[in-house]
Amino acid sequence: MSVSELYPEYELIRNELRCTNCRICERQCANGVHKLDARSGRMIADEAKCVNCQRCVAYCPTRALKIVKSQNACRENHNWSCDAVKEITLQAGSGGVLLSSMGNPREYPVYWDRLLVNASQVTNPSIDPLREPMETRVFLGKKPTSIARTKDGELVTDLPPQIELKLPILFSAMSYGSVSRNVHEALARAATELGTCYNTGEGGLHESLYPYVKNTIVQVASGRFGVHKGYLNAGAAIEIKMGQGAKPGIGGHLPGTKIVGDVSKTRMIPEGSDAISPAPHHDIYSIEDLQQLVYSLKEASGYQKPIIVKVAAVHNIAAIASGIARSGADIIAIDGFRGGTGAAPTRIRDNVGIPIELALASVDARLRDEGIRNSVSLVIGGSIRSSADAVKAIALGADAVYIGTAALIALGCHLCRSCHKGACNWGIATQRPDLVDRLDPEEGAQRLVNLVTAWNREIREFLGGMGINSIEALCGNRAMLRGIGLNEAELRVLGVKHAGE
Ligand code: SF4
Ligand code: SF4
Repeated sequence: MSVSELYPEYELIRNELRCTNCRICERQCANGVHKLDARSGRMIADEAKCVNCQRCVAYCPTRALKIVKSQNACRENHNWSCDAVKEITLQAGSGGVLLSSMGNPREYPVYWDRLLVNASQVTNPSIDPLREPMETRVFLGKKPTSIARTKDGELVTDLPPQIELKLPILFSAMSYGSVSRNVHEALARAATELGTCYNTGEGGLHESLYPYVKNTIVQVASGRFGVHKGYLNAGAAIEIKMGQGAKPGIGGHLPGTKIVGDVSKTRMIPEGSDAISPAPHHDIYSIEDLQQLVYSLKEASGYQKPIIVKVAAVHNIAAIASGIARSGADIIAIDGFRGGTGAAPTRIRDNVGIPIELALASVDARLRDEGIRNSVSLVIGGSIRSSADAVKAIALGADAVYIGTAALIALGCHLCRSCHKGACNWGIATQRPDLVDRLDPEEGAQRLVNLVTAWNREIREFLGGMGINSIEALCGNRAMLRGIGLNEAELRVLGVKHAGE
């Protein structure tokens, strides 16, 4: 008997007075939890298969279902948690590495929740964002050190390529294969309507999405799946993925079962073959090597597109970012250790990397100290949960933020953390046609537009409250933040004063 059969994590409670045996829950559940018992004529549940995605609960027409955390836990104590016991039992049975999805769920400090935002009063009055202009546009890319104009005021300085966003929020990289084509289409449509960008991730770009070129960031990862000249020119910017917050130092692995049909065609690999991205790029062992790839990509795209280098937040991130800024990259994307993923080794996800708040603050400070902050823009991600997190990130030095998990939640994700199983009941992290069809890209796009529009309204209110009227004026403006409940070292790294100071 497997450990999940011994100790199912969830208990499914069916109100027999309400249940009409309509079997909708059975049809909605791709994990095979529900079935009609022919002998008793009643619905029964195999709770060992339940991942608590809430699909059956949401679709039960009589609200007969409830899923609760099971009380049948193994005997645990302060040192040996039930999860630790289960995982050891699992590995003793399989001999394999534990796999998980979504972000690090451990109880590390969330620094966003220990930072408070300033508001103006009296001498520096607040600004009413409904009645006065408020600039939320951002330009990502290198900023020139000086600007020259003709006598008539015309610009003569050659500006480096930049991406213009109407608001400081982008959709982070999620590959076609790890999520469905419908998810990509929803992201592409929403990004276009919002005036921002979505990111292909490392799985190439489905040919039907090429028309969204102005709102697409195409990614080049170590596996180089789906990378060709047409692809490189199908986006507004090119992102080199050196690392990912959920699994720093680890490559990617999309199992062969997900490499089917258009996923295989788009990735340019045979159906059924595992898509393995090596941990390192096999042609990059130094900043000089990275520089060569940066310039190869600039060459391939006619020096018309900014190049992003994405790295995971790790201990020496400030030194790494300094090197990247000097490699010719235009934008650095930093991904914190709470960032989501379709699949990662559990131990790596939960123990490697550092919080994005600390990484961002140290990178911004280092680039300013070295006088090279203007040579790159900073985009950060790794569990931005609300407009407040975004505002705090910008005050700590980000030019814009990537949102991934929040975007998936807007699309219907219930954070069941089983993306790696490929049977997402909400039609997101799956390639099964019957499940993919559950997500309508048009409706999904609208929900994404609603979410980001709402956040942008809130960001404008934050800005007005602080008495400033542009994202640029907030970027790196740490005087707008105060820490609460933080120790000296944390305040020093964050570069903020304690509340009351
Ligand atoms: S969906 Fe609800 S009413 Fe229908 S069989 Fe399942 S529990 Fe019963
Ligand atoms: S994307 Fe799907 S499988 Fe992954 S956590 Fe969300 S609901 Fe679960």
